[in-house]
Amino acid sequence: MPLLTRWVGGTEFKGLPKLKIVANCAAGHDNVDVVAAELRGIKVTNTPDALVDATADLAWALILACARRVVEGTELVRSGKWSGWHPELLLGTELRGRTLGLLGAGRIGQAVGRRAVPFGMRIVYTARNPRPEFERETGAARVELPRLLKESDVLSLHVPAVPETEGIINSDTLGQMKPTAILVNTARGDLIREEALALALEQGRLGAAGLDVYADEPHVHPRLIAAPRIVLVPHIGSATPETRREMARIAVANVHAVLSRRPPLNPVFG
Ligand code: NAP
Repeated sequence: MPLLTRWVGGTEFKGLPKLKIVANCAAGHDNVDVVAAELRGIKVTNTPDALVDATADLAWALILACARRVVEGTELVRSGKWSGWHPELLLGTELRGRTLGLLGAGRIGQAVGRRAVPFGMRIVYTARNPRPEFERETGAARVELPRLLKESDVLSLHVPAVPETEGIINSDTLGQMKPTAILVNTARGDLIREEALALALEQGRLGAAGLDVYADEPHVHPRLIAAPRIVLVPHIGSATPETRREMARIAVANVHAVLSRRPPLNPVFG
């Protein structure tokens, strides 16, 4: 059973004539050419439910790191330049009473929203379909994209990377956000035009950004690496032992099902 950690498509399928299933260890399937797989009768599965809590926790790690300038603080201490307590040193953003915006309120978006309640945040979200139970539970309000951009003090991205969402955070939408806002992306790098984000941070038109995912992983845009007030982590949204074990268990269950000629448990098509 080969373990592949990159894009899988027609070329790989040609070299694996007996391939029956690509059991993707991920919530998405944008690293698999599902059309080429379907044409060859290869099943593609994923592990969507296993990653929700770990990824929502990481989104919150990025929100808090940005709000309270944790990485800048670490860098200051490490540099040896910290000269002692000062009332105005590294003042951050207090979350109580602020607005959390969720672009997408599926499994992970809702889990991020639920975690905002004890922080005393107001929640607004966009989704193609309303989420009445989530609204009842958290007091969240469904809004259109322009209002989401305008009102969010923290904007967290939770939609898949599909043609409709590619580059949804660009110079125009960044320009509609508060200059103090925090942008967090634990979804997919293709949602953000990275040059535009770097420019907004460089020019002080955005408060801070926390990123787990990038357009061209593992290459990270050099202007993002150099940008101020940014927290960068290497696609570790689901990186806990519990979640990784559960992802592996689900992937193996899908392989067993397909090799036993049963329908897969988590098909991404068909
Ligand atoms: P999900 O449950 O399928 O929710 C997706 C949300 O996006 C829903 O609100 C959905 O709206 C909306 N959406 C779907 N297609 C859309 C479109 N074409 N245009 C606008 N909105 C659309 O997904 P999830 O499990 O929460 O995952 C969210 C994202 O996190 C995915 O991109 C996934 O790949 C990523 N992820 C990353 C990591 C990591 O390691 N960083 C880990 C897990 C997942 P409706 O329901 O109303 O259709």
